[in-house]
Amino acid sequence: MGSSSGQKPNKIEDLVDRLANGSLTHSRLERELGNANEAALVRRLFLERVTGANLSGVASTILDFQELYGRNIENPIGAVQVPVGIAGPLRVNGEYARGDFYIPLATTEGALVASVNRGAKAITLSGGARARVIRDGMTRAPLLWTPSVDEAYRLARWVEERIEDLRRVVGGVTRHGKLQHIYPYIIGNLVWLRLTFSTGDAMGMNMVTISSDRICRYIEENYGGDAKCVALSGNMCTDKKPAAINKILGRGKYVVAEALIKGNIIREVLKTTPQSIDLVNTTKNLLGSAAAGSLSFNAHFANIIAAIFIATGQDAAQVVESSMGYTWTEVRGEDLYISVTLPSLEVGTVGGGTRLPTQRELLALLGVAGGGNPPGSNALKFAEIVASAVLAGELNLLAAIAAGQLAKAHELLGRGGLRVG
Ligand code: NAP
Repeated sequence: MGSSSGQKPNKIEDLVDRLANGSLTHSRLERELGNANEAALVRRLFLERVTGANLSGVASTILDFQELYGRNIENPIGAVQVPVGIAGPLRVNGEYARGDFYIPLATTEGALVASVNRGAKAITLSGGARARVIRDGMTRAPLLWTPSVDEAYRLARWVEERIEDLRRVVGGVTRHGKLQHIYPYIIGNLVWLRLTFSTGDAMGMNMVTISSDRICRYIEENYGGDAKCVALSGNMCTDKKPAAINKILGRGKYVVAEALIKGNIIREVLKTTPQSIDLVNTTKNLLGSAAAGSLSFNAHFANIIAAIFIATGQDAAQVVESSMGYTWTEVRGEDLYISVTLPSLEVGTVGGGTRLPTQRELLALLGVAGGGNPPGSNALKFAEIVASAVLAGELNLLAAIAAGQLAKAHELLGRGGLRVG
């Protein structure tokens, strides 16, 4: 933490010298010192010496690298700080999330928090967002080689018939991970096994990767024919890459949030009409996205997903598939129906970055820190809240575009137009 060190200054200097002359590598520093916080200090001093950069800001952190080393980070030097704002209250009437929530958003994009905040106001004044998780399962798709299509077909059938044995294999690895089903996919002589697991309150990627490894070993040891695992991840999972398979079959939480926004609230809060919002959604989100060949049919899911992911310790790279999805609107009399569908929202409340102190505080702000009772319920509640926040952001941006306010909002909130003091 900080730059304090129990080591003698000449010991520190000696280590910086050795890093500089190449007789010590960064990856050995923690073992050499026996302390990850002191290793971070030595690395910073080394970097400051060889680059001339000043890292005093990066040094300033409450993080204890003794806790994080070996779990969350290698070669640590400190931390970056990202501002966090809140939007809300946002009323959510979900199966798990019920009540008014303040949404933490970590971002440097001026106008984003204000956008979600105004959308949340319109939704809450209209009675709140309804949210439902339709499917819940994290996937890994190992790729197996066989010599022929006949063998590939035999292997796929053999694996499907032995699903109970494979479930027992997974049971030996994890208490919360459960193998739900297997989707075999054959191209020529190759077989992908898209394995879907429930993962409790964890996002689950470590859990399902370790489980899939044991499944591959079981297959290689017990399948009588000719089969070899060539890639534990065969890219049909699909992790951290845009892919239609996630959108169609789902990955993580397949979640929908919807609301009926009253006509007077659209006029008074959003300064536009249901017809104008519906027209922008149809032309921009649906036709424009189709014309662009996009995998996504929304205005800015990624803005809200990224900001909540950073605030709450989710894996930021999974914004790629978590922000795929559809916004749908219908004019209903005086009112506007709006829904967002996120087929591949990958979130957890235990594991990964959720254990970091500030991220855990913000999960606690939402009432979802740690494991739920029953297990899995915190992650489902969190998914409903995230989808409802995405709904708020989507509603507001469509309204701002419909009312011709988009550029003005960014001039005011993204270019310093609203500075105080
Ligand atoms: P994890 O921290 O590796 O595993 C979750 C742990 O929490 C397990 O030990 C689990 O025990 C325990 N646990 C306790 N209470 C639980 C509850 N209520 N629900 C679920 N688990 C509970 O986390 P993970 O979600 O599997 O993996 C997340 C990490 O994977 C992130 O750091 C992410 O960046 C990284 N990641 C890895 C890969 C990869 O290929 N390996 C890919 C992408 C991301 P049991 O196992 O006994 O149930």
